[in-house]
Amino acid sequence: MATLKILKFGDPTLRKVSRPVEEITPRILTLLDDMTETMRAAGGCGLAAVQVGVLRRVVVIEVEEGKVLELINPKIIAFAGEQQEQEGCLSFPGNYGLTKRPMHVTVRALDRHGKQYDITGDGLLARAICHECDHLDGKLYTDVQIRPLTPEELK
Ligand code: ZN
Repeated sequence: MATLKILKFGDPTLRKVSRPVEEITPRILTLLDDMTETMRAAGGCGLAAVQVGVLRRVVVIEVEEGKVLELINPKIIAFAGEQQEQEGCLSFPGNYGLTKRPMHVTVRALDRHGKQYDITGDGLLARAICHECDHLDGKLYTDVQIRPLTPEELK
């Protein structure tokens, strides 16, 4: 496994739309492993492949320690409710904003074996799913934030 360099805000790659994964090759599996290591090393709870410069629809999320969700070609198929919470991004170190997101989100994706699965997340997991799926379309949390948060406001 390897720790990859995370692109920072202002890098034009972050605005690009990622392509679907057509075949789960050993390269994709290595990418998943490296993304998890990179996310953990950076102390984040989610990472999209575009953030490490790979324009593929691949996401890792770890909201609950030790429980890594690997999402290949994720698609949000249902959402409900609303939450306004603090949100940050490994591509915006030290910055946080208040965002409005659904409280419950169901996403459909492939796992590393190519098997399709659905998972429903609430609260933080719902936010993370929305945030990471947005990355795949070149969208950043700053596009949807209600306002930036000051250091004093952070939880
Ligand atoms: Zn992000």
